[in-house]
Formats: sequence, structure tokens, C-alpha cells
Amino acid sequence: MIVFLALGTNLGDRLANLRLACDFFEKAGLVTVDKSSVYETEPFGVTDQPWFLNQVIKGECAFSADELLSVSQKIEREVGRYETYKWGPRVIDIDILLFGDEILESEKLTIPHVGLADRNFVLIPLSEIASDFIHPLLKKSVKELLNECEDDTIVRPLLT
Ligand code: ADP
Ligand code: MG
Repeated sequence: MIVFLALGTNLGDRLANLRLACDFFEKAGLVTVDKSSVYETEPFGVTDQPWFLNQVIKGECAFSADELLSVSQKIEREVGRYETYKWGPRVIDIDILLFGDEILESEKLTIPHVGLADRNFVLIPLSEIASDFIHPLLKKSVKELLNECEDDTIVRPLLT
């Protein structure tokens, strides 16, 4: 299955957190097909916290969606995530954006991710590597969703 994962981090060594998460995914059996650039983004929701780094990963894996969620949560713990508060600072956040073109809805998993179409920090990196991918529920391409998105938080390529 081709999957798209959104990584976000605003605590500690943010670049290292992204790299570690990718390494752990590879070790868990996800093959990285493509990666967006790393973007630096203004916090969304709770603004009184450090800026985030965000990146979207395109992977190929044999996991079910539930397995992918468990693997992602295990990797969040391995990279060093600890509980803060909703929309608060975190060492790493891993969200499953898309799982092929499947539509899934359970208590613990909603795919496509509910916030996908509303957030610049997801749409900008995603459009870099999958601009023509059609959102299976909204039936619009990522490019179209980005054009229509009203989020005005700042998302800029990380200068390294
Ligand atoms: P958020 O990402 O909203 O800031 P968390 O990372 O703490 O918050 O995730 C909260 C819950 O969201 C997880 O326990 C998970 O069960 C649920 N969830 C629902 N859909 C998804 C998805 N597509 N990807 C990742 N988590 C999801
Ligand atoms: Mg999350």
C-alpha cells in the first residue's frame, strides 16, 4: 500500500527527530518512496510555542491501517514523545494522511486524516510530492485543496 505520513516536531533537535522517525519506519518495514522538503511552520491553534518542522513522507508498506497506526505510535514513543496537551508542543507527531485511496473511520483512526484539507503545514509538503493525488472523499487533487485552503499560518522551506 502507498501511504502518506505527516511528521511534525517542535521540541528538542527537530531535524534529528524527523530523521530518527524515518529511520525507525524503515526498520519497521516501511520503504520510503519519497520525502518532501522540511518546512518550518508557525504553530497552528496554540500559538504560544516554538515553531514546528513539518515533513511528509511517501511510503510503501504491507501493514494494515491499524498496524500502521500502532507502528507510528510506537515510533512516537521511541523518538521520545511525551504527553503535553491538545495542539501543544511535541517531540514528534506522526499522522497518517492517506492510506492508498481507502476511506476508514473508527474510534481510533480516521483516514484520510480529518485535518488534511485545512492545514497549510500538511498541504504544502504533500503537494510537493503528490500534487495530483485525488483525495478519496473530497474528490479533489491536493493541488486544488491547497488552492482552496484558507489557512494563513506561515509555512516556509527550512533554510539549512
Ligand atoms: P493530534 O495529531 O490530533 O495533534 P495525537 O497525535 O495525540 O493528536 O493523536 C490523537 C489520536 O488521533 C490518536 O490516538 C489516534 O488514535 C487518532 N487518529 C485518528 N486518525 C488518525 C490518523 N489518520 N493518523 C494518526 N492518528 C489518528
Ligand atoms: Mg497525531
